[in-house]
Amino acid sequence: MKFALLIAAVLFLLTTTSLAQTAKDFAAEWDKQHISSLPPSNVRHKDLQKYLEQLKKLGLKVEEVGRSYANREIYQIEWGTGATKVFMWSQMHGDEPTATSALLDMFAYLQNNRGKTWVKELEKTLTIRAVPMLNPDGAELFQRRNLQSIDINRDAAALETSEGRLLKKLRDDWSPAIGFNLHNQNSLTTVGKTDKQATISFLAVLGNAENKSNEGHERNKRICAVMTLALENFIKGHIGRYDDAYNPRAFGDMISAWGTPVILIETGALHNKDEQFLVKLNFVAYLSALKSLVDKSERSANPKIYDALPFNNSGNLFNFIFRNAKVVNFAEKSEPFTADVAINAERRRANESVPTYIREIGDLSVFSGLEEFDAKDFYLVQKNGLLRIGASGEFLFYKKTRKIDWAAKDLEKSFPPDAIFSNGKWTKGEKLLPKKF
Ligand SMILES: [Zn+2]
Repeated sequence: MKFALLIAAVLFLLTTTSLAQTAKDFAAEWDKQHISSLPPSNVRHKDLQKYLEQLKKLGLKVEEVGRSYANREIYQIEWGTGATKVFMWSQMHGDEPTATSALLDMFAYLQNNRGKTWVKELEKTLTIRAVPMLNPDGAELFQRRNLQSIDINRDAAALETSEGRLLKKLRDDWSPAIGFNLHNQNSLTTVGKTDKQATISFLAVLGNAENKSNEGHERNKRICAVMTLALENFIKGHIGRYDDAYNPRAFGDMISAWGTPVILIETGALHNKDEQFLVKLNFVAYLSALKSLVDKSERSANPKIYDALPFNNSGNLFNFIFRNAKVVNFAEKSEPFTADVAINAERRRANESVPTYIREIGDLSVFSGLEEFDAKDFYLVQKNGLLRIGASGEFLFYKKTRKIDWAAKDLEKSFPPDAIFSNGKWTKGEKLLPKKF
């Protein structure tokens, strides 16, 4: 009898330890095993097809399930044989690519590690279907909307896009128990009142106008808590809660309303971290969520961890702020004045030059910049001589000690500036302006 108990205890320990994959383990395994090699923003439809060929070679089920407006193939990947149906979709917005790469890495990982006890459990318990890159036409152009210029995420009721109709059909034909709606958000979104970037934000979608909760929504809050704890290992303080009112045109809301409670994951950015880091965070979040469904740890997770996440905020953080500059608008021959100037970068594919635009001028002491420069010893001149909101963030800097004839023809030639800032970079005089942190 004692011996039997001992065996039982040993077996229990073996199972629990083999299931005890931590978030850090997931991250380390992503480092070693991820198949995505391009920055997600550079993944075109043809690159996706190459990745999917790799998955097929590993033995994964990949099939074409529909076509885009421009007749590009849309695919679904399936893994697992279990009764609990999990549905995930990415890049409904063409310029929101992080999750597509993370899904590919997740499926490759699950397939390659089926020998592991906890992966076996996942395979037995779950069937996961995912549509990577629902909007391949938008992805090709790196734009949010599809080729009809319709925002697919506002087409859940009208269903005028082939991509939206496909998403609804895939859900309705299968009735999954849980949905993951995977997006990217503005890189300057902040966590609550802090100036910290919201690198990842969660929303357990309610799916009704009355804010009535239900069992699926409560479960999803607990799963968001599991993912939050997992990601706090890497980005503590950079996790937010997506604040979104019920929208009967949006898929997250409607898929929840149709009977598949949805978790929205919005990936933002983290200064000085590349896109691949964000892929890794997504990978860790998905595996943590799926594992918690299978080993039932989500049942004991604390939904208050999700409730306590600060809501996303915007408008408090800029890409660059130049503090206390003396602004010279030579094109209108007005008096120089002192101001802080903030500029933001546009969303672009990796390695492309990033245009910047002036977003705020004046006393910006209550705002933060990801990078800030002390310009108190300099004149700041917009390249065309007019500092205006919306103008390009191309600046010439002149030391205040210099005597400059601002009316000079071809100012840059007659009076070469001490420093030039253009497209988010110093092209002359780098390090001349002290950097503030
Ligand atoms: Zn989006």
